[in-house]
Amino acid sequence: MTQQQALAVRGGRVICPRTGIDEVADLHIERGRIAAVGPGGPPAPEAVIDATGMVVCPGLIDLHVHLREPGAEHKETIESGTRAAVRGGFTRVCAMPNTTPAPDRPATVREIRGRIRRSAWCRVGVIGAATLDNDRESLTDFGALKAAGCVAVSDDAFMLRTAEQRREALLRCADEDLLFITHAEAEELSRDGVMHDGDMARRLGVPGQHPAAEARALEAWREAWDGPGRPPLHVAHLSTAAGVAVLREWEDGPTAETAPHYLALTHEAVAEHGANAKMNPPLRTEEDRRALIGAVRDGTISVIATDHAPHTAEEKAAGVARAPFGVVGLETALSVVLAELVEPGILTLPEALATMTAAPAGLLGVEGGRLAVGAPADLLIFAPDARWTVRPERFASMGRNTPFAGRELPAAVEAVLIDGRSVYAGGRFAAAGPPAGIN
Ligand SMILES: [Zn+2]
Repeated sequence: MTQQQALAVRGGRVICPRTGIDEVADLHIERGRIAAVGPGGPPAPEAVIDATGMVVCPGLIDLHVHLREPGAEHKETIESGTRAAVRGGFTRVCAMPNTTPAPDRPATVREIRGRIRRSAWCRVGVIGAATLDNDRESLTDFGALKAAGCVAVSDDAFMLRTAEQRREALLRCADEDLLFITHAEAEELSRDGVMHDGDMARRLGVPGQHPAAEARALEAWREAWDGPGRPPLHVAHLSTAAGVAVLREWEDGPTAETAPHYLALTHEAVAEHGANAKMNPPLRTEEDRRALIGAVRDGTISVIATDHAPHTAEEKAAGVARAPFGVVGLETALSVVLAELVEPGILTLPEALATMTAAPAGLLGVEGGRLAVGAPADLLIFAPDARWTVRPERFASMGRNTPFAGRELPAAVEAVLIDGRSVYAGGRFAAAGPPAGIN
């Protein structure tokens, strides 16, 4: 792939939540970096993208993605998962550590990063496993994981069990200036539950997860932190009103994310979509959904992340009781967020985009997520007024397990640039293959 020396993106609505830009303007790119916003770029750029009628914003950043490689390449690979990311407007994703082997030692982290360098279509941060072999017993060497390139540490899918582990994990993260991303679920309240414990679970005749499971786990994390200031903690996929309440009253508490499906759907969706609406934590009630929207609005939840979790059609065909947890989300996230938060007037478009650009970039401490002069030209260009219908068979992801199948949604991704190079445009991926040198 050739790198354009000078490129102009002309006439789009340029939105950067971080710098506050929101105006129809030209964006000038030189040598992969943003050279100017507004008039006054090079007089004759070598290439021009006409973005009239489009939104031009920082490429989206996803803190929570399950790429499945290594170990479960029949569900997704780094290549297919990052294609799905780019198709959904993302230029950076973070890979959760529930792979086999897990990124629990520097050698494995390096091996996984090698795979990413060879086959990823976007930037990928590796999140280190909190315990060795994800055994939930022995904490990993967080400092060594960070030195090997991990961007955070997480117990997602393999939660820490004890107060002592939680305390030690936070202390180590504070020492290493690392973020701990936790899956907050008190198993004594959720064990064996396959969906939200409510009238829908009873109607379907399947065991439920008590709604207090999340809040109980968050209380345990609060007890584990007695350090000064904010704990180096980020709460993954917040799903309940009770969880929101704990975070609201936790002064200088952790940051939190929720996923588009919790903002759009309730446990009622399981009746219609079966196992394709089964994830952990589960879809909750309308009251929970409204509380999450309120929490995004007031900043208690600053990040929206997909928890993209592909499974095969055969696995999901096992039904609500037995199918594995998880839904795909990379290719619908932007549209669902716009449909649920921007179209009803809950957030402005820049506010909604902040949850998927500036906010996750800030938590990761990465350069992207903003359209400032000198920043890498990682860009998303999308048509805000387009409408499309979700057809899972057209996903770039190998996973088809979405609860949004058949739904009409706003906004279509037109182009994605990474380091100023076009990776995806007009429905096509760059013929030269995954961009080199970005990971
Ligand atoms: Zn999780």
